Amino acid sequence: MAYGQKSGIDSWNQGVAPDGRIVKSKTKPLLRAWEWQVEAACRGMKSSVFFSPPRERGSARKRREDGARAVCIACPVRLDCQNFAETYRQQYGVWGGTTERERRDRT
Ligand code: SF4
Repeated sequence: MAYGQKSGIDSWNQGVAPDGRIVKSKTKPLLRAWEWQVEAACRGMKSSVFFSPPRERGSARKRREDGARAVCIACPVRLDCQNFAETYRQQYGVWGGTTERERRDRT
């Protein structure tokens, strides 16, 4: 199953992680401003896919960011996510397929 693809059962929050695992989440966003996250390809995934551990640098950072971008590229709410990150100036992590450095360089 591809990212964002619906299944017949609990369709809104199921996807496939980069390592092939099926990931599910029963949590629902509480705020309307976050409603787009219901369709996010990353729902239920570990935040460590998108956010760096302390002192991550060089090729390790690039590998993690490339893995995060691979999730984002097929995400149906990618533009909502990117707009959210820019609007609310998210300083850390990969949002909408953009890295923290890319967002910082745009401003
Ligand atoms: S675009 Fe945003 S919501 Fe979609 S997978 Fe990437 S980080 Fe998650």
